Amino acid sequence: MLQDSFNRKFNYLRLSVTEVCNFKCNYCLPDGYKCETRPTTLALAQTHTLLRAFAMVGTKKVRLTGGEPTLRKELPDIVALCNDTPGIESVALTSNGYRLAQKLPRLVDAGLTALNLSADSLSPYTFSQITGNNSLDEVLRCIDLAFELGLKKVKLNAVLLKQYNGTQLTQFLNFIKDKPVTFRFIELMRTLDNAAYFNAQHVSGQSIRTTLEKSGWQMQPKGPDAGPAVEFCHPDYAGQVGLIMPYSKDFCASCNRLRVSADGKLHLCLFGDANDDLTPWLDDGDVTGLATYLSNRVLTKWQGHQLHLGKSGLTRHLAMLGG
Ligand code: SAM
Ligand code: SF4
Repeated sequence: MLQDSFNRKFNYLRLSVTEVCNFKCNYCLPDGYKCETRPTTLALAQTHTLLRAFAMVGTKKVRLTGGEPTLRKELPDIVALCNDTPGIESVALTSNGYRLAQKLPRLVDAGLTALNLSADSLSPYTFSQITGNNSLDEVLRCIDLAFELGLKKVKLNAVLLKQYNGTQLTQFLNFIKDKPVTFRFIELMRTLDNAAYFNAQHVSGQSIRTTLEKSGWQMQPKGPDAGPAVEFCHPDYAGQVGLIMPYSKDFCASCNRLRVSADGKLHLCLFGDANDDLTPWLDDGDVTGLATYLSNRVLTKWQGHQLHLGKSGLTRHLAMLGG
C-alpha cells in the first residue's frame, strides 16, 4: 500500500484521459481549451501498465477525468482496462455530461461503477452563464439514466460562486429531496489563470455548513477510506450533501489520492510545483519498476498544499489535471 511520511495511505488514482474540453466554465477555461501543439495522451498499452502498477501498490479506485473525458474516443476501452485490472474495485467518471446519454450505456457495459456530473446551477440561464453551454437538461437526464443502467453512486458537483449560485442552496436542496444523489459543493480554488476571478467569486463553504446544521442536516462519520469531503444527510431528504473545503484547516490530512495527467505525469498534489514523467516505465511496460518508483516517490509528498498562501503550484487551471 502506498503510504507517505505523514502516514496517509493512497488507494485512489485520479487519471486524466485528455486535457481537451468542449466547455468554457468561467472559473476553469473561460476562453475555451487552447493548445499550440497536438495534446498528448497515453496509449492504451501505456495506460494498462500504469493501472497495473498502481493496483500493485494498493490502488482500489480509479476516477477518469479531464478536460472532458468523454471527448476521448477510447474512453470505453480505458474503463474496460480499469475494470479488468485485478485489485481495482471501482471505476468512476467525472464529466460535464455533454452528449453523455448516448455514451453512458457503453461505459456502464465496460465496467463503469460511479458517475460525478458537474451542475454548477439548476437554473438553465445561470448554468449557461457559468459553462457557456445550454445543456443543463442533458446533465439532469443523465442522472436518471445512470440509475436505470444500474449505477449505485451518482454525484453532482457544484463549484460555489458568489455571484452565480451563492444564493441557490434551497434550489439545490429541493432537487435532492426525492433523488438519492449527493450534491457536492466545492469551494472555488485559485489557479494560476483565475486569480482575479477567484478574488471576485470565492465564497467559503462554511456558511453552507452552518445553514445545513441549523436545519437538521447531520454530519456523517467518515469511513476509513474517505477523502477530504465532509458529508451530511437529513431524514427528510433522499439525497446527501457533500462539502469540499480545500481552504479549511486540516483539509489535506485525509488526502487519499494521487493524480496522473493525460500525458503520463505523476502529480503528488493538485497544487504541487513539480511532476514526474512516468512514460519511461510506461513505454517499457515495466509494472514492477513503476510500482517501486511510486512507493518511494510518495514519501516526498508535502503535508499540505499552499493555496492559503496564494500558491497554486504548476496548476494553470484544473482542466490540466482533472480536479
Ligand atoms: N470536465 C469535467 C467536469 O467539469 O466535470 C471533468 C474535469 S473538471 C476539471 C473536474 C471538476 O473540477 C469539476 O467538477 C469542476 O467544476 C471542478 N473545477 C474546475 N476548476 C475548479 C476550480 N478552480 N475550483 C474548484 N473546482 C473546480
Ligand atoms: Fe471543462 Fe470541466 Fe473545466 Fe468546465 S470544469 S471547462 S467542463 S474541464
